[in-house]
Amino acid sequence: MTQIDNRLILLVEDSAADVRVTKRAFQKAGMDNPVEHVDDGRRAINYLHLCKRPGGTERPALILLDLNLPGMDGREVLRSIKSADDFRAIPVVVLSTSDDERDVRECYRLGANSYIKKPLDLPGFVDAMQTLNEFWFDTAIVPN
Ligand SMILES: [Mg+2]
Repeated sequence: MTQIDNRLILLVEDSAADVRVTKRAFQKAGMDNPVEHVDDGRRAINYLHLCKRPGGTERPALILLDLNLPGMDGREVLRSIKSADDFRAIPVVVLSTSDDERDVRECYRLGANSYIKKPLDLPGFVDAMQTLNEFWFDTAIVPN
């Protein structure tokens, strides 16, 4: 498999600091993927709906989803994505500060494709994003 490095990642994250560290980690992990960032759940769902329009936004190859979001939270976003025929095939990786077993179980039950506890620092984020990149874009085959 050749590396797919131009596939869009949709980053759903309300913390500006976490957005910065995640994007920095993408860079340090050598990822060239374009990143679309939205800071709440409603905007994430709106973004996905715009992908269906001709000439609309680019469909993400992967969604990185923070669990704790203002308004429509990550669980609701996950439920909405995974109950929609048009969107459920998009891999969703949950990123959360919580590793509470109830959160983990609930997210997988709702259809999360993996669940990562947010690393504590930049080196941790770089490791996590490197692993994520290798798995989702180098090893796994994701749908177009
Ligand atoms: Mg948050």
